[in-house]
Amino acid sequence: MGSTASARNGTWRNWGGTVSARPAREVTPASVDELAAAVRRAAEDGLPVKAVGTGHSFTSIAATDGLLIRPQLLTGIRDIDRAAGTVTVEAGTPLKRLNLALAREGLSLTNMGDIMEQTVSGATSTGTHGTGRDSASIAAQIRGLELVTADGSVLTCSEKENPEVFAAARIGLGALGVITAVTFAVEPVFLLTAREEPMPFDRVCAEFDQFHAENEHFEFYWFPHTGNTNTKRNNRSAGPERPVHPLRGWVDDELLSNGAFQVANWVGRAVPPAIPAIARISSRALSARTYTDIPYKVFTSPRRVRFVEMEYAVPREALVETLKELKAMVDRSPLRISFPVEVRTAPADDITLSTASGRDSAYVAVHMFKGTPYQGYFTAAERIFTAHEGRPHWGKIHTRDAEYFSRVYPRFGEFTALRDRLDPERRFRNDYLRRVLGT
Ligand SMILES: Cc1cc2nc3c(=O)[nH]c(=O)nc-3n(C[C@H](O)[C@H](O)[C@H](O)COP(=O)(O)OP(=O)(O)OC[C@H]3O[C@@H](n4cnc5c(N)ncnc54)[C@H](O)[C@@H]3O)c2cc1C
Repeated sequence: MGSTASARNGTWRNWGGTVSARPAREVTPASVDELAAAVRRAAEDGLPVKAVGTGHSFTSIAATDGLLIRPQLLTGIRDIDRAAGTVTVEAGTPLKRLNLALAREGLSLTNMGDIMEQTVSGATSTGTHGTGRDSASIAAQIRGLELVTADGSVLTCSEKENPEVFAAARIGLGALGVITAVTFAVEPVFLLTAREEPMPFDRVCAEFDQFHAENEHFEFYWFPHTGNTNTKRNNRSAGPERPVHPLRGWVDDELLSNGAFQVANWVGRAVPPAIPAIARISSRALSARTYTDIPYKVFTSPRRVRFVEMEYAVPREALVETLKELKAMVDRSPLRISFPVEVRTAPADDITLSTASGRDSAYVAVHMFKGTPYQGYFTAAERIFTAHEGRPHWGKIHTRDAEYFSRVYPRFGEFTALRDRLDPERRFRNDYLRRVLGT
């Protein structure tokens, strides 16, 4: 886990470098019993408890000054049930390991995000998502959960068993208990054809509804200071498999998207006035390409350039207006933005605090290169997102609090009532949860 959350001199740091914490103690349990005993001991000592994944959240959602529970020894596949179409994995399993293991078994998740470094429990607890017309976030693919609650007991839930816990705990923000195992719906591995194509911003906005309706997975990146985007359409295919040629893959995904992009960002950080010119070049660097491969090779790619990010889900019908407002704000401001804005979608789901809970959603993500001031840009963007009743990604930077969330999440009270029942003493508390949940 070298590239992810690190601990030096007892200090825990997240991937983006935005958060650090000094836990009172750390454990790396190798079994559910060991984990439950650690939670009980922390309760006896009056310590708060926090399980972490790989520290890929930009918010302080995973930070603790109490007991830090590390995931490294709770990994691997517990069970594959082909008849039910499910796989049960230990909660600390990295998504990468899950995807590789599933592919070996001829299986796959239906949808996923941009990277696969995170743990299954960390990714799902904040609502990590990719893009989809019909298929939703990774948490929406959960069929069952096992968690250790505040009193050290083990609770299992699914649509049939403890359904009120299942409704909330799939995106539980680490507030309801420590997840020890996750059961996902899986399907026989399939092929996706990806079509990547540069396109003018105005055309994408004008035809967004059509692109969304006609493609299973549509997304695009807009390059601030330009009228250019890169679009990506992924659709199921009968084959044959036609992976990206290794040399082209290296040029596009390593050299241009990581190596040259890193250099462009260094130059932009040193000479901000150069950023619009760099953006015009970056936005034209990648040309159209089409390839067909298994899902995780199409959905995910390495992200080596470090950044900070804010992402909001707005009602899907408000997307184009939101984007035009964002572009107008950037155009009339002195801001210099070297990172593209990413746009994705998700259908409504039934998870209490999912950013897509009960409404068809579109995600707009703004990024800044690590080490550049981001507050001015993010504050201005957040003003636009919240005017559209946006819901921020739980793991990405935002300034919202419980009062706001109780307005934009109709089922907010359902989540806090469940938390009152499962964790009345707030064993799983931290400052972030106090802000977003109110206590
Ligand atoms: C480069 C990069 C790319 C990203 N791409 C995407 C993307 O495409 N889509 C997207 O939606 N997000 C994306 N994210 C955000 C990321 O997926 C989320 O922040 C995710 O939560 C990180 O997972 P993690 O394993 O690092 O968890 P952490 O950040 O370590 O923890 C997140 C939360 O999960 C809780 N948690 C962890 N383990 C447990 C457990 N066992 N039981 C209970 N709670 C637990 C923690 O307490 C915390 O509340 C990206 C982030 C980065 C840095």
